[in-house]
Amino acid sequence: MLHSTPGRYYTEHSMSDSPILRIAIPSPLRRSFDYLPPTQGGTSLQPGVRVKVPFGKRTVIGILLELAAESTIPARRLKRIIEVLDKEPVLPPDLLNLLIWGSRYYHHPVGEVVMGALPLLLREGRLNRLANNHIWQLTGVGRTISARELSRAPRQKALLSILDNQPEGLHSRQISQQYKNWQPIMKKLEEKGWVRRIESPFLPVRMDPLSSKAEQRPTLNQAQQTAVNSLLESTGRFSVSLLDGVTGSGKTEVYLQIIEQVISSGRQAIVLVPEIGLTPQLLNRFLRRFSQPVALLHSSLSSQERLAAWLASGCGEAAVIIGTRSALFTPVKNLGVIIVDEEHDTSFKQQDGFRYSARDMAVIRARNAGVPIVLGSATPSLESLYNAQQKRYLHLSLPERAGGAQPPTFRLLDLRRQPLQEGLSPQLLGIMEQHLQSEGQILLFLNRRGFAPTLLCHECGWVGRCRRCDTHLTFHQQERRLRCHHCGSERPVDPRCPDCGSVDLRALGTGTERIEQALQQHFPAVGIARLDRDSTRRKGSMQTMLNEIQQGHKRILIGTQMLAKGHHFPNVTLVGILDTDQGLFSADFRASERMSQLITQVAGRAGRAEKPGLVVIQTHHPEHPLLQQLITHGYQQFANSALKERQEAELPPYSSIALLRAEATAAETPLDFLRQALQTAGQFNSGEVFLLGPVPAPMERRAGRYRAQLLLQSTSRSALHRLLDQWTPQLETLKSGRKVRWSLDVDPVDLF
Ligand code: ADP
Ligand code: ZN
Ligand code: ZN
Repeated sequence: MLHSTPGRYYTEHSMSDSPILRIAIPSPLRRSFDYLPPTQGGTSLQPGVRVKVPFGKRTVIGILLELAAESTIPARRLKRIIEVLDKEPVLPPDLLNLLIWGSRYYHHPVGEVVMGALPLLLREGRLNRLANNHIWQLTGVGRTISARELSRAPRQKALLSILDNQPEGLHSRQISQQYKNWQPIMKKLEEKGWVRRIESPFLPVRMDPLSSKAEQRPTLNQAQQTAVNSLLESTGRFSVSLLDGVTGSGKTEVYLQIIEQVISSGRQAIVLVPEIGLTPQLLNRFLRRFSQPVALLHSSLSSQERLAAWLASGCGEAAVIIGTRSALFTPVKNLGVIIVDEEHDTSFKQQDGFRYSARDMAVIRARNAGVPIVLGSATPSLESLYNAQQKRYLHLSLPERAGGAQPPTFRLLDLRRQPLQEGLSPQLLGIMEQHLQSEGQILLFLNRRGFAPTLLCHECGWVGRCRRCDTHLTFHQQERRLRCHHCGSERPVDPRCPDCGSVDLRALGTGTERIEQALQQHFPAVGIARLDRDSTRRKGSMQTMLNEIQQGHKRILIGTQMLAKGHHFPNVTLVGILDTDQGLFSADFRASERMSQLITQVAGRAGRAEKPGLVVIQTHHPEHPLLQQLITHGYQQFANSALKERQEAELPPYSSIALLRAEATAAETPLDFLRQALQTAGQFNSGEVFLLGPVPAPMERRAGRYRAQLLLQSTSRSALHRLLDQWTPQLETLKSGRKVRWSLDVDPVDLF
């Protein structure tokens, strides 16, 4: 299956019944590796267990993929497995199959895919359970012990009394939260027969402490009810539903009610969200609603916590698993539904290493498990809309805002010939003034952080450029630094031009920091919050700022696309989009889709409650058809005409694409490799796949490396994949490939 080596050896060994173990090992090679069983046992092993094997000069941990009768390698050259680490698979069959599917579809080495899915502690070979992991309960005798008997052992008494209030017992981790060094004392109680311990699968990362008073659910409106009914009809079998609901239409409420049904029948739900740190409100709603354990999986968990969440999910203890893209690879005992919120969000596609789409693989997981999946968005991707048009997905619409909030009004502000104050037009400042007077909150959106994207010498024309990338350095005024947003390199700002020595250095263009400063001068009495990657770097700073916004201490919020994601600011009455023109003229065919999604999502932050909202868009191109269509007819209409354009140009979703990227320290090396790759493809191409390039990447040099790419496109997905299946093994053998770093991106979301 995963073998690329042609021809098989039939050796004396294959005659015996001793099987071959096919192992996934983290290595850049697109194949598995064959081993002999350990000297003792090993023939009844289940796929998905971890094994320790010799690999080159090292000992590594891998995963057993399958048992085979024969190998393409002669038996005398096969090595033995050193040790089997698990009795039960750490990757249950459904998850293992999903990962194998992913490694084939995305043409990524199976070992990296499979091992990459494991929590770090399991990857390192630790036990597949947590230490100190018991539930402690009072025994019958323990219950009869009166406080008097323990008057001289206050700590024993304390432990007994906290257990006395908990008929179900307390988890060791819960006890640790209240007491230090309690274990020896508990041990004494155990020896006396007053308490007992029960091996617990595990306590999830977070349980709702207020679970007893679960939140009241609102009565659904007609559209929500229709969506819920339709989804409930499909429980217990595979279906994909696109929940296409304008911002604030109550999609989350639909998820909640579906999940409630699913968990009441003893099944579990996976909920994928784009960025967990950015959606605390969503999480709180889940935690408030369900009285059952919710496991959270996100990047700032400790490795213990991650393993805990993984185990809680795998043993069925966590009813809901919420997480970002990689949470899809969590074992789930009894899956009932998968929900992908904001399914259009590009963060569901991993942009390096194993370049999978969590949304697309979630559909595969749901199909394999025979359960429904819901893809929700106010601005569905063109791919999903297309699938809905093709009737592959069920299209459920929530056309109106729930709870009576009105849709916002749009207004285009023509920037031409306007005197701009740091990127803000006089009209916009005037409108802001009005909204501030009538107690509204204002949200300004600019997708550029820092003070200014360029620093220029007015004397000689010098501009600060990154030494390692083909790009300008962004000027960060507060820290007096120049920073590259592509490779992260940075340096302090010189007071003088490095070329001519002039002190007349000027910041060109506008970033969020500069807007913040301009607004502080213009509205000195108003609280202003800036939300971008710089201002939220410190842990907790995001939450602090969100709280200040909720409490009304900050009335003007300025931010990057972080602001577009899922926050609920009920008092925002004005949304200003400061610069749309970048998105109107881009080489990427998805730029207009992205921009429309962004405008619609940002606009969705206005007037979410009783107060009506106004969305003001600053542009030099007010007559641009895309903008016109979007603001007069909405995202749906935009999407329809964008789909027509894609169809005419045979672009996705009307074709499938893959991108072969290569990079190296010399400019010609990646192009050489790609030319050879192109030539190699010829022998496998039935003529149905177009190969375009190779060409240098749009930003050729990044972090000191030159980058080039070769695009493959076909109106037949299967033709493209037939070619990739035969081609990628050959790429590994190309000599020119050794001098470059190359990667294949199947269904890329951007072509850079
Ligand atoms: P979305 O996920 O589509 O943005 P939400 O589910 O967050 O929408 O709903 C937006 C707001 O409307 C929330 O404050 C939510 O509590 C409220 N809401 C949702 N459904 C209803 C309903 N049926 N009746 C009243 N309020 C609702
Ligand atoms: Zn100069
Ligand atoms: Zn750089």
